[in-house]
Amino acid sequence: MSRMHAERRPTRKGSSFPWYAAAAWERIPRLIHGFSGRLSDQAAALSGLSATELPLHTLTQVHGNALRVVGPDTSVAERPRADGMLSAAAGRLLGIVTADCVPVLMVAPRQRVVAALHAGWRGTAKDICGRAIRALKTDWDVSPADLLVALGPSIGGCCYEVGRDIGENLCRQVGPRGRLAWRQEGNVSTSACGDTGFLDLRLVNRLRCEQLGVPPQHIQHVGPCTFCSGVALSSYRRDGSRAGRQLSVIGWDRE
Ligand SMILES: [Zn+2]
Repeated sequence: MSRMHAERRPTRKGSSFPWYAAAAWERIPRLIHGFSGRLSDQAAALSGLSATELPLHTLTQVHGNALRVVGPDTSVAERPRADGMLSAAAGRLLGIVTADCVPVLMVAPRQRVVAALHAGWRGTAKDICGRAIRALKTDWDVSPADLLVALGPSIGGCCYEVGRDIGENLCRQVGPRGRLAWRQEGNVSTSACGDTGFLDLRLVNRLRCEQLGVPPQHIQHVGPCTFCSGVALSSYRRDGSRAGRQLSVIGWDRE
């Protein structure tokens, strides 16, 4: 587990709260990022961040693929219905809240653009990573070859049992290597459709990014499986409605 450097932790000074960080991203000037450990609830996540002087932009996440651009004048009160944000504005943090779904952070260091995405199986099926990569290319001239991607703590292929139709469709979308993200040995007796398997949703998103031209060495998995990693991380699958949440943030510090 890697920890964020203290001076870049986007939370209250002196907190013992764990943040997972992407290796080498701390060397990108003025970049602030991290994947939080377990927070008791979303309100706690937001109050924890209110201690920072930088505004935190969040979304009303709906398992879709809509993206919003956060500019220097965007209000944090907006919280639009969307599942991804893009920003080149200094002094703004983008925040995604998850409890098994994959939080995806992207950074283009040269163009100084960041993205934060919420990729559950529905958002992945709707190609939210692909939409973000295309938007970065179209609107900021970011080549996928220059993009860095971090896929944060989320339920792993070890634990994420889903219906065969969902799993196989998702894996098919990312080409022949998609079969690496699917393990067909679910407990048939507990499945409504009688046919389940285990899906590695992070790997599906990684393969989609690679498919669109992000170099494999630019993509990292950060943090463990939320379900089997113990109490450090929240898992909706494991804890149901009592589950807390993780908060994943990225942004540029003030100039
Ligand atoms: Zn697991």
